[in-house]
Amino acid sequence: MTPLPLLLTAPLLLAVVSVRAQQERVTEERVREVVTWLASDERNGRDTGSRELEAASQWLAARFEEAGLQQVRKGSWFHEFSLPGVQIDSAAVKLTLTRKVGDASKDFVFEADKDVRQMLPSDGLEGEELCTVAAAGDPVLQRLMRARSARRPVIIETSVEHAFWEQAAGVHTVLSGRRQAARPMLLVREGLLPPAPGGERIVEWTAAWSVGAPVALDVTQRNVMAKLTADPSSPHKDEYIVVSAHYDHVGVGVGKDGDNIYNGADDNATGTTAVVLLAEALAGQRLQRNVLFVCFAAEERGLRGSQAFCARPPVPLEKVVANLNIEMLGRPESGKQKQCWFTGAGYSDFASVCEAALAGAGVGVVDFRMGNQLFWASDNASFVRKGIVAHSVSAGSLHDDYHQPGDEVGKLDVGHMTAIIRGLCDVAKALADRDAPPAWNDKGEQAIERTLRRRR
Ligand SMILES: [Zn+2]
Repeated sequence: MTPLPLLLTAPLLLAVVSVRAQQERVTEERVREVVTWLASDERNGRDTGSRELEAASQWLAARFEEAGLQQVRKGSWFHEFSLPGVQIDSAAVKLTLTRKVGDASKDFVFEADKDVRQMLPSDGLEGEELCTVAAAGDPVLQRLMRARSARRPVIIETSVEHAFWEQAAGVHTVLSGRRQAARPMLLVREGLLPPAPGGERIVEWTAAWSVGAPVALDVTQRNVMAKLTADPSSPHKDEYIVVSAHYDHVGVGVGKDGDNIYNGADDNATGTTAVVLLAEALAGQRLQRNVLFVCFAAEERGLRGSQAFCARPPVPLEKVVANLNIEMLGRPESGKQKQCWFTGAGYSDFASVCEAALAGAGVGVVDFRMGNQLFWASDNASFVRKGIVAHSVSAGSLHDDYHQPGDEVGKLDVGHMTAIIRGLCDVAKALADRDAPPAWNDKGEQAIERTLRRRR
């Protein structure tokens, strides 16, 4: 082989070295740091519409800025959209509970906001009737909360440390669609309802209640996004690939064994961590296409963040050539470390393009039995509906802790995650740099057409 003149090889070598050096930024330590922040109890399960999800959006924006990425829209790291909600005011609640034990009855009067708070809104604004009293950890409550409407007011005894209590303070907003019943769901501070004298069975509770009228409003939600700008001399410099993951989860709930925070460590703090680490690793490179890093909100409410992104795209959608969406990387089945799988893998050449890139990083691509069903279950589906080649990559399992309080950081395999994220660095680069963008095949086009026709 004839040696190339030094002037030509030097920049090439530099480029290769810098790719290695930047991949080495993906360390187990950094992966653990980011995923732990996102999934800690302080985030309260990153529920859509919560203060904690808002704080997470700011934190993610700061990571993108620190990494040295560019804003897609000048002056903001966010793509905003809104969901319908209602505002309710715990300071406007009036509640007297009457307890009947045998022939004896006793009244308990509660001070608004201090002793009683309104958790969920109601169409009805007042009443005097039999009610259900339950403790925050009561399994019966799980059923009541899922019910679309209640026949009685529901009164929940709650510790002041419980997230239910904190989130219901003063004037607060609840997203619509949670429950809009004729009767309200109220919280009373634990310790104010003493047991019946002599341990007698409580025959019934009656509530005389009134609440303020709920005020309808739009609640702003935020996708967080940043851009790695393409090489200005590239013929593909106007095109984009989107690397994404949803950063929301399902919040707090009745819980299990005293744990009421649904941390969503695997689902999807791991995917979000991958987006952050990819941004940090790839920043400073000049690739052939732009890379948009996007953390989607409200995925758990029906892919709302990605739908909004595709409905009002911040860049022309016809210039987006592929979407790599990342979901649940942290809980491989035993013996499946350093392996990942793609949803709808057989529908395009996307997975085979990625497979070649992953092989170089020692990561294997395998089949997953539910891969085609899950193709429609995450944010890539919003891009698919717009005709964009879009798949989710996952490197785990559908474990028993899925959407349970036990989806915690301690159960993640951080070494495995680190290997997968390093591999995904090469995937993002391959998608951004190769001349031909990925394309649907006949099987994929037919399957997508069939599904969309059925859902129309
Ligand atoms: Zn998810």
